[in-house]
Amino acid sequence: MQHRGQQLIMAVRKIIEIDEEKCDGCGQCVSACAEGAIEIRDGKARLVAETYCDGLGACLGECPQDAINIIEREADAFSEELVRQRVALLGILAPMQACSGLQARLFLRA
Ligand code: SF4
Repeated sequence: MQHRGQQLIMAVRKIIEIDEEKCDGCGQCVSACAEGAIEIRDGKARLVAETYCDGLGACLGECPQDAINIIEREADAFSEELVRQRVALLGILAPMQACSGLQARLFLRA
């Protein structure tokens, strides 16, 4: 997969899986995800792109329906750079000039 000239690598790694049957679209996982990796579409939570999900599962504990699991499968590699661009676009936080994605996540959850 190509993105803005950057080669994205596929890898077997941890990533969220959303059970559409259990999800009621409450949106609590959306606000729990500092990477902006989840959005509500057609009344259900959807992973926007594999590259945005770090697989750490901050959203798991927020789901009242137990609809999110962490699985291990082949997926696009997590990209801090693409997350930086996404959160800036969404206005989740100011552009993370000197912060890495991990530092920003910790900052948001503090
Ligand atoms: S928190 Fe759970 S039930 Fe609510 S939108 Fe997310 S996956 Fe669906």
